[in-house]
Amino acid sequence: MSALTIAQKVCTEHLARTAYLYVRQSTLRQVQNNTESTERQYALRQRAMQLGWSSEQIVVIDTDQGQSGASSVDREGFQRLVADVGLGKAGIVLGLEVSRLARNNADWHRLLEICALSRTLICDEDGLYDPADFNDRLLLGLKGTMSEAELHFIRARLQGGILSKARRGELPMPLPVGLVMDPAGKVVLDPDAGVQRALAHLFDTFHRTGSARAVVQTFNRDGLLFPARIRCGERKGEIIWAPLTHWRVLRTLHNPRYAGAFAYGQRRTRKTPEGKTTTRAVPREEWTLIPDAHPGYLTFEQYEQNLRTLQTNATAHGTDRTSGPAREGTALLQGLAICGRCGHRMTVRYHTRKGAHVPDYQCVRENIQTAREKCQVIPGAGVDAAISQLLLDTVTPLALEVALNVQAELETRADDADKLRRSHVERARQRTELARRRYLAVDPDNRLVADTLEADWNDALRGLQAAQDEYERQTAAAKATLTEHHKQRIRQLASDFPALWNDPVTPSRERKRIARLLIEDVTLTNTDQVHLDVRFRGGQTTSLTIPKALNSWQARQTPTEILAQLDRLLDDHTDRETAEQLNRLGRRSGMRRPFTPAIIIKLRTTHNLPSHRERLLARGMLSQQEIAQRLGVHPNTIHAWRRAGFLTAHPANDKNDYLYEPPTPNDPRLVKRRGWRHSDREPAPPTQGGAI
Ligand SMILES: [Zn+2]
Repeated sequence: MSALTIAQKVCTEHLARTAYLYVRQSTLRQVQNNTESTERQYALRQRAMQLGWSSEQIVVIDTDQGQSGASSVDREGFQRLVADVGLGKAGIVLGLEVSRLARNNADWHRLLEICALSRTLICDEDGLYDPADFNDRLLLGLKGTMSEAELHFIRARLQGGILSKARRGELPMPLPVGLVMDPAGKVVLDPDAGVQRALAHLFDTFHRTGSARAVVQTFNRDGLLFPARIRCGERKGEIIWAPLTHWRVLRTLHNPRYAGAFAYGQRRTRKTPEGKTTTRAVPREEWTLIPDAHPGYLTFEQYEQNLRTLQTNATAHGTDRTSGPAREGTALLQGLAICGRCGHRMTVRYHTRKGAHVPDYQCVRENIQTAREKCQVIPGAGVDAAISQLLLDTVTPLALEVALNVQAELETRADDADKLRRSHVERARQRTELARRRYLAVDPDNRLVADTLEADWNDALRGLQAAQDEYERQTAAAKATLTEHHKQRIRQLASDFPALWNDPVTPSRERKRIARLLIEDVTLTNTDQVHLDVRFRGGQTTSLTIPKALNSWQARQTPTEILAQLDRLLDDHTDRETAEQLNRLGRRSGMRRPFTPAIIIKLRTTHNLPSHRERLLARGMLSQQEIAQRLGVHPNTIHAWRRAGFLTAHPANDKNDYLYEPPTPNDPRLVKRRGWRHSDREPAPPTQGGAI
């Protein structure tokens, strides 16, 4: 740079202000090892003095030593520099490779802008810049971009190296307990048989129970411990034995290394705007996953099956097609019912009918999401009854086989647990032996050491005694569960399945759990009948059809066979008579009450059944008026003739109304009456009258 340019850039205004020398090193290691760079930075001081600043005017900012330049947060020195530049205190800012003053591009541009506004110069080993000048600013901006790009390439190269190593499965990663690195650098199963057995027992128990909680319960009930590796501190790498916890089971089940797969990139860390580091889990599809990279405790298929089981166990609110664990409530298919119309999982709604909780299976998802009508609601009682019957039919022939399998299962489980417990005792014995040998090896005159070792030995002996006692106690407990009496009971339980199922004392929850063990899901479709498509756990399917279920108001309706009976009775009886007849036959209304004329009237109007009167009219009966007209007599005469038995009449209702059979010509009773008319002072029936 020519003297002229420098002279043009540095003016008295700049010289009147302070010169800031910003010294920084990225990491502590650079601070310690790369002293040369620090010297170069201090050499810039000479340069400031050459440019015209006096040594008192030069402020050195080096408080950021040992901090990375990637973000200005937490870099007090840089913040102070920006503040002072902004206040117009700085005439010049000097730094080594000044574009790296702030590696983060946003910080860099902000500083440039502030320098331009406050007319502050910038100087590094390459030259002197005036950010207010367009060309200089362009150059500085480019330098900043270059610096950022360089950082990016370094990171990409490092990351790429790690990834390609990971893809080859050669990236050394901390191994979970149960897996160790052999001297040749290959991953193998931990040679400690106790550790191996504990892991195998965990996976077996999960496979059998399908629940992480049940695994913890089993281990704790049987008094089994689980190994864990100390991750830091002076005992790093050592195995300790502790009671099993739920999170440890989950972590073990989720770790693909146990399935012999190499996994990398399960978590990703990133910086927040505040400069904090956050870690988040990465979806499994994005991991670098190499199956069959080393020996494991289970196959990759088993590993994936375990994850699926865990997934279904999660209650997972709002997630469709996850059934969730069995809850209280009577609905047998809670979480198992699927809508046959739209394929969504159906929910259960209970309502009270005559003091009992009655379930409905309803598909409301669409209805909630789009405020449309409910997709379908199926009364649950009929469905549950059909499923119960199906299970009873399905389970009985298998009863003996199930019983035998359960028994064998229990025996192997007891064996496994016994081996594990024995290995605990074995470990305690080894520790004792070691302590004993150490004690014997020490010079007895060295009292201090000898005392400590003696105490160790005593501790180990006590541990051994405790382990042995525990072993005997647990073994006795395990043996006690498998007496002949128990075997007998297991056999009986299996054959008593129908009794157990139907026993009102059996909680709904247990019944549902049994249903879940056997049934995967049931698709319900409501058409003119209810169709049940049942999918069993094994993949077997079966279909059932039950009559269309009645909803609550339909169930309160008078049954159709009673309606038919009522219809028949109305042919010959009035409402009151019909009611009496039905009550005599022991019939009850839909509301379980005796019939009354009012109920009969209501029923026939609701079901459009003609009244008794209408039926008589339809059969050609005549009203009092009509017959009077036809016979040519006054209606009162008809009344009298009926009472006298000259006319055949039927009661039309319960109000003393009658309908008359049409008179036949030559009816002896009426023929006789013809002469009777004068004494009766009534006109005689006209001889030419239609019917006569
Ligand atoms: Zn639906």
